[in-house]
Amino acid sequence: MVSLPAFEHTPIDKIAGIYGKVQKSYLSHKTRGLEFRLAQLRKLYWGLKDNQEAIQEACKLDLGKPSYETYITETGWCMNDIIFTCNNLAKWMKDESAPDIPLMNKALSPRIRKDPLGVVLVIGAYNFPIQLSLGPVIGAIAAGNTVVLKPSENSPNAAAVMKMILEKYVDSSCYTVINGAVPETTALLEQKWDKIFYTGNGTVGTIIAKKAAETLTPVTLELGGRNPAIITKNADPRLAARRLVWAKILNAGQVCVSQNYILIDREILPQFLEELKKTFKEFFPAGAKASPDYGRIVNNRQWTRLKKMLDDSKGKILIGGNMDEADRFLEPTVVQVDSLDDSLLADESFGPLIPILPVSNLDEAIKIANSVHDTPLGIYPFGNKKETDQVLNQTRSGGASVNDGFFHASLPTLAFGGVGTSGSGAYRGRSSFDCFTHRRSVTTTPAWIERMLAIRYPPYKGKLGQY
Ligand code: NAD
Repeated sequence: MVSLPAFEHTPIDKIAGIYGKVQKSYLSHKTRGLEFRLAQLRKLYWGLKDNQEAIQEACKLDLGKPSYETYITETGWCMNDIIFTCNNLAKWMKDESAPDIPLMNKALSPRIRKDPLGVVLVIGAYNFPIQLSLGPVIGAIAAGNTVVLKPSENSPNAAAVMKMILEKYVDSSCYTVINGAVPETTALLEQKWDKIFYTGNGTVGTIIAKKAAETLTPVTLELGGRNPAIITKNADPRLAARRLVWAKILNAGQVCVSQNYILIDREILPQFLEELKKTFKEFFPAGAKASPDYGRIVNNRQWTRLKKMLDDSKGKILIGGNMDEADRFLEPTVVQVDSLDDSLLADESFGPLIPILPVSNLDEAIKIANSVHDTPLGIYPFGNKKETDQVLNQTRSGGASVNDGFFHASLPTLAFGGVGTSGSGAYRGRSSFDCFTHRRSVTTTPAWIERMLAIRYPPYKGKLGQY
């Protein structure tokens, strides 16, 4: 077993000094050049690669995460993002010529520079502790910023490993980790950032946005919501079952984009339930508890919250329901509910609970989905093209996967983000670069144009008549 660094809270009285150091590095302009950015990203890549085992161990301790999931959703994910970013960065950084500029203004060389925003704060969440922290950090480095990362204290082992990697591999005067919980984050929010990137729940998102507003600091908020899956009578029940089970067992359901509830046409419910049972048997032949491929709930507080949601439900448990607090185990649990007021629909579960509400038709499903949460992070319609188009046309959401559970969010280069209360702003691949970049409009006025510019100077007498 690899030995892991200890999670230590950064002393609060050191935070202003750390911020000052990172700000000074930004003002030294050393992060501006392409070569510097590429070198730092490559070092971060090697930091991840060299420490894959430590990351796996940390994610296992924090979330019982299977090593395969850690690779595809954390380490490998970030390494691929770095490769993609390095391969494209020179192109992204290039000035863009402004589109649709009238011919007579072309002499001014109108263009858009891609400038860094400055000193940015990234606040990560616990469920994908590496990806949700380093993903935005990769974009921020690529865009030429300096960065302070505050990982989630609820995945302390992953947070400690990230601190070790950043200290050891990249320029720590430019990119640094502050570990801690609410007091440390509150102290961080006292500093003047050029951008704050926050991932987590909407209540804290509101605190961050209010604090940022005091200094007119721009924010990107990656929040949660209650995401519906809608299964029409024309959907393929086997595909829907396999895909939606996968979307709920990955990371033991602690996925912001996974479906929170399923609205299904009554006509297809029996076949769908049959396929759900078959799928669970296939994925976990000896049950989820005995499977090495199923994670655990992050901590006892979250486990107790999920248990209460389930206990309070008036629905009927159809599959699962087993729990073990000592192991923070919660079996993937399918519950048929009959009311929108059920505890399993009243809030985001952020766990392996699968409430199913039967409906009479697609119109009813859309009406319910819009009434539960009109701007969820994701929406997952299953059916024929006409039906899935109707869902897209009559709902809003951050993203959507047609005939699948959150596949759109699994593509590392497709912009990812919420809308309305599920968040604002987007990142991933090129969008991460854009997220931390100021598109600065610039013109250069040549000397030879001065005669033509006489039109703008006073005295104005007689000039209006020319228009
Ligand atoms: P969390 O407990 O890890 O908290 C997130 C961050 O907020 C942590 O770094 C924490 O230190 C900080 N924080 C907590 N209280 C704070 C306060 N009072 N002031 C300042 N900072 C504070 O994670 P969570 O919020 O419980 O995460 C679950 C929620 O996040 C769910 O709603 C989920 O849908 C959402 N989420 C969204 C995304 C996304 O990409 N849109 C990803 C993951 C999670």
